[in-house]
Amino acid sequence: MQIVTRFPPSPTGYLHLGSARTALFNWLYAKKTGGQLVLRIEDTDRQRSTQEAIDTIIEALQWLGLDWDRGPFCQSERFDRYQEVIRQLLDEGKAYHCFCTRERLDALREAQRADGRNPGYDRHCRDLGRQPSPGQSTVVRFKSPLHGTVVFDDVVRGAVAVENARLDDLIIARSDGAPTYNLCVVVDDIDMGVTHIIRGDDHTNNTPRQIHIFQSLGAPLPVFAHIPMILGADGRRLSKRHGDVSVLEYRDQGILPEALLNYLARLGWAHGDREVFSVAEMVELFDLKDINKSAASFDPAKLLWINQRHLQQAPPQRLADDLGARLTRHGLDPGAGPPLAEVAEAMRERAQTVEEMAVKVAYLYADFDRYEPGAAKKHLTPSAAAPLQSLHDAFEAVDDRDWRETAINRAIAGVLEAQSIKLGRIAQPLRVAVSGVAATPPIDTTVKLVGRRRTLERIQKALRWIAARRAGGTGQPQIS
Ligand code: GLU
Repeated sequence: MQIVTRFPPSPTGYLHLGSARTALFNWLYAKKTGGQLVLRIEDTDRQRSTQEAIDTIIEALQWLGLDWDRGPFCQSERFDRYQEVIRQLLDEGKAYHCFCTRERLDALREAQRADGRNPGYDRHCRDLGRQPSPGQSTVVRFKSPLHGTVVFDDVVRGAVAVENARLDDLIIARSDGAPTYNLCVVVDDIDMGVTHIIRGDDHTNNTPRQIHIFQSLGAPLPVFAHIPMILGADGRRLSKRHGDVSVLEYRDQGILPEALLNYLARLGWAHGDREVFSVAEMVELFDLKDINKSAASFDPAKLLWINQRHLQQAPPQRLADDLGARLTRHGLDPGAGPPLAEVAEAMRERAQTVEEMAVKVAYLYADFDRYEPGAAKKHLTPSAAAPLQSLHDAFEAVDDRDWRETAINRAIAGVLEAQSIKLGRIAQPLRVAVSGVAATPPIDTTVKLVGRRRTLERIQKALRWIAARRAGGTGQPQIS
């Protein structure tokens, strides 16, 4: 039997972290078992569903690399099919027209509340056997079993049992004929041959009702796996406040898709103590039985840590492309500095995201007009002037074509020897002079990436800056 999973977002907003994780688990299980993933757009709520939401959800899935084998199917295009099933259930006596007025239902609810009973429909019309007169619109209700218990074996939660007495007769068609959510989901899951329903445990309450509909249509039950929610650090359900923004916002922040997938997988699934997985490893190792039973909390710091681990493994050219696009977005010209792949290689240990990388390497692509204040104060001091001047002269003597670490180190070593000083004395002043900041890749790599012309110019600027500072004045002098 081929396994068929599904991802059925309601297009009422962006793809957030919880839904992305649900999509991932369905995708992993389909991939692992050689099965299929169906993408279904649950847009029966015409008021709240938008094309824009459909587009961003699809864009996010594509960015994450979560591809589907069938679909996207839109529920809004399947209304005829739902009508057919509603008709069938009515004809078979498994559903009935309900003529109760709003006033009656309100009064019923009031009375139930006053008696301390659970509100629910009292099945007043269930056995009337009444048909609507032509043109009369009524809601249609499903005849839920009156006795017994519905039991299902959830892969994550174990056996779940709900007494049928607690379920009232669900509306399956509204008075305007529109089919309701639980009906559409079941009809789709049957028609699309879904074998495994893996979804958030906020849907657990719907499952007994859906099971009754499956059974009334004579369809075999799929396997259910309800995944615990993602919580914020405060133990509350994850919301915007905790960073549950659109998945695409994480892309914009420089998180790699494979890192986000890795992090989401670990928020709800474990394979021993291991934290870092490639996508292929997740496909190989994923199993529904290893989904955690308790809710996990979202930890942005951990996501960054995982991202850095993936950054270290990503192909340099891919990082280079991403870095280039980000520099452009920051108004920098990626052609106005060193090759992006070299920069990405030098920076992948020093930034947690590609976005952070882009911010940190701006000095390689454009001149800066101020130094990091603390760094300049500490390192661009009068005593740094003489060594910086010597470095300038030594670098000037290096041929442009030899501008690589070996020649740069040789020039630096010459200055150290001539002045009998240690690298510690000049590395930081040189770094601040050429980059404006106190933390960059190793000094020889930094100087190489900055390039010979800029290195010479920037050392001269630093010397002028030191002179201006010595001459007095408050605050930071301009770099000139
Ligand atoms: N459309 C539902 C949602 O976005 C999912 C329903 C289901 O998985 O059965 O929450």
